[in-house]
Amino acid sequence: MTMSEQELRLDGNAAAGLLQEVFVHEVTSVRGACARCGAVGEMGAQHLYMTPLSPGAVLRCTSCDSLLIVAVRTGGRLRVGLQGLVWIELPDEGAAS
Ligand SMILES: [Zn+2]
Repeated sequence: MTMSEQELRLDGNAAAGLLQEVFVHEVTSVRGACARCGAVGEMGAQHLYMTPLSPGAVLRCTSCDSLLIVAVRTGGRLRVGLQGLVWIELPDEGAAS
């Protein structure tokens, strides 16, 4: 490891502010890119699959029906898998307007 890598690597707590910014947003306004077909769209416009008694939900791409997001409630936690997305994009609260 070089000296500069050591200086750049922060512990997980340092990421808390950034992650907080990511998860404070209304997810329906978040845009994402499908890892399979590359389609870009708002998460709120994708196909949601869930049943009333199920512990979780699945979001699928409207273009190719590939899995985008899986969310499961278990043990007092909500686990969110974003394996079907290349990226997500949200309004930058820190940007000067
Ligand atoms: Zn797709």
